[in-house]
Amino acid sequence: MSEGPKVIFEETLLCPVCKSKTFKAIDYLYDTPHAGKLILSNWYCENCGYRFRDIKPYEGREPKVIEMRIENENDLRTIIYRSAFAKITIPELGIEIEPAGMSQGYISTIEGVLEIILDKVGDFCDKECENKIRLAMEGKIKFTLVLEDELGLSFIKSEKATVKPLILTNSD
Ligand SMILES: [Zn+2]
Repeated sequence: MSEGPKVIFEETLLCPVCKSKTFKAIDYLYDTPHAGKLILSNWYCENCGYRFRDIKPYEGREPKVIEMRIENENDLRTIIYRSAFAKITIPELGIEIEPAGMSQGYISTIEGVLEIILDKVGDFCDKECENKIRLAMEGKIKFTLVLEDELGLSFIKSEKATVKPLILTNSD
């Protein structure tokens, strides 16, 4: 008797295409006899039909740091998932957003992430840093996007993205 897939993650997110909150994200855990444990993502927008599918080994799900250098407009269109547990840092723009600042995860493009940040920067960003974000959105500033995710759920869909283990430090 074999066990069926288990749902390990389920959330309704903002759709990266039509921007409505109808993007059903569901991750299943499969225990396969030959390939071991696999996570299958089947995310689907009920409004516009946009679909995102992915399969990856379960073992990869541990604290990690994802980093990507954004150098052109093509890079700005890269699909990114920022989980509710991930911290975003963009050193060149002076941006540092703790997970608590935005309680929900979202899938978007890199450009979309900048847009979301711009929407919420009021508190910690002056005119100069706002302008920098706008220039970055137009591909006029090169920058590095860093995602630190304690649960390892986040991802950036690009071969340019590097993934390293996240060393958790206790602040004293
Ligand atoms: Zn949609």
